[in-house]
Amino acid sequence: MKVFKLKTDLQQYLNDLRAEGKTIGLTATMGALHQGHLSLVARAKEQTDVVVATIFVNPTQFNDPKDLEKYPRPIAHDIRLLEQAGCDVLFNPEVTEMYAANEQWHLDIGALEHLLEGKFRPGHYQGVTQIVFKLFDVVKPDLAFFGQKDYQQVMVISRMVELLSLPVKLVMCPIEREADGLAMSSRNVHLSAQEHQTALVLSKTLFWLRDHFSVDEMADLQQQGTDQISHAPGVDFEYLELADGETLLPATPQSKSIVALVAAKVGATRLIDNVIVK
Ligand code: AMP
Repeated sequence: MKVFKLKTDLQQYLNDLRAEGKTIGLTATMGALHQGHLSLVARAKEQTDVVVATIFVNPTQFNDPKDLEKYPRPIAHDIRLLEQAGCDVLFNPEVTEMYAANEQWHLDIGALEHLLEGKFRPGHYQGVTQIVFKLFDVVKPDLAFFGQKDYQQVMVISRMVELLSLPVKLVMCPIEREADGLAMSSRNVHLSAQEHQTALVLSKTLFWLRDHFSVDEMADLQQQGTDQISHAPGVDFEYLELADGETLLPATPQSKSIVALVAAKVGATRLIDNVIVK
């Protein structure tokens, strides 16, 4: 695997491959890789000729400085995992390589910015669109692979691609879970064994909602799911919503697809998860 720290070196390398007619797949990550990330690399390998993974802990998408500081950064281990997964290229830039001092960014993504995650993490999606735009610009991928784990993020990036007419196709990949149902996340390393058990109420409730879903009972189901999570000891509940799969506004009987999304803190660790129920 080739590892690049500088944009110009990466661009030159990819330009040559593109000139040979090779297609490029991008998997953007913040590192501390797990099977969820590696499933994106595997999917990218199936669908494109050259797979580029990026590892960059993007400061502009963190609204909590402590969260940024304690974000795990096991780069040597990550490189081994990517090599084993057959990834072709890793781009692992420093913050100064990606950002000029006092850089400004704003993209009007409408209601999506302030719903759900946006409400609890103000500014988060401006930081996400800012860095993903830059990564698309450097890598110029044909296909970019994102996880359903961050469902709202996929919607936001898809809106950006549409607004700016970016020449990339997005592929949303399913959520990888632990055997007990917990959605894999880089933040799970912060959970104690007890907190891990406590956190299972999130996926259990989502599966329960999926198994009992009926359009006629949505309000009642959302309330029951909310009760299950908010009454669980050790859980600091943020939201549980049955949302329209396209707009993420509250689902209606007319919604073509419906997704149940949840966020909660367990101890000091903030977790999100979702399940497509319709
Ligand atoms: P992150 O490193 O958390 O920014 O995630 C990088 C990419 O991996 C994003 O597209 C995530 O949605 C995706 N991802 C994270 N966790 C999972 C998971 N458990 N299953 C599938 N994809 C995931």
